[in-house]
Amino acid sequence: MILIGPPGSGKGTQAQRLEQKLGAVHLSTGELLRDEIAAESPLGKTAATYMNTGRLVPDQVAVKVVVDHMDRGDPDADYILDGFPRTRIQAEELDRILGERGLEVGKAVEIYIEDDVLKERLTGRFACVKCGEGYHKFFKRPEIEDVCDKCGSMEFDVRSDDMEETILTRLGIYHLETAPILPYYENRGLLVKVDGEKSVSDVTKEIELILADVG
Ligand code: ADP
Ligand code: ZN
Repeated sequence: MILIGPPGSGKGTQAQRLEQKLGAVHLSTGELLRDEIAAESPLGKTAATYMNTGRLVPDQVAVKVVVDHMDRGDPDADYILDGFPRTRIQAEELDRILGERGLEVGKAVEIYIEDDVLKERLTGRFACVKCGEGYHKFFKRPEIEDVCDKCGSMEFDVRSDDMEETILTRLGIYHLETAPILPYYENRGLLVKVDGEKSVSDVTKEIELILADVG
């Protein structure tokens, strides 16, 4: 399954919830790229120059991260792809990568949501430095002020690409480069749309229903 949606649509949150419920592997290119940056690998250094300003990393870099991850993992796994493909070229590459492994795209789920709502969501995001758990200054504060619910750490950070002007760049790029891949899946009857303004658990339920349909 592919999850497609603008930054702030909740793709990552949904992918995490579905990973647990479905026993599928959550593959987030954003997370994998942030891991590369943290490890200060050559690929991470290249990626950082794009990501910090809200631009997409080059297609070959995104494709490499996906292929490397799949090659290391269980060949029989079901995947939830979060943040890939993000361009038409990546969508075509994905078909090739899956084809070589005897796999195919089951469903493409679009989480749609208005830009105004997204801006509000994105500007309040912060995360635990230690375990990566995501929070929001209005929608999801830690239960105990300044303490991570998951791991107890007291160190939090705003992702460098969640700074205000970078958010506008990312939304613009989503409409320009990523939204045009929707017809690529729609034409094959694989696209399903979900309202991203509903509650987190309602969105999860809708996606589960869609997937139950695929069997
Ligand atoms: P969000 O969905 O909130 O933008 P992600 O964690 O999915 O967050 O992605 C963060 C950043 O990582 C993107 O803005 C982009 O720079 C880079 N990135 C992630 N996936 C891709 C991809 N498939 N192609 C190019 N760049 C990517
Ligand atoms: Zn934590």
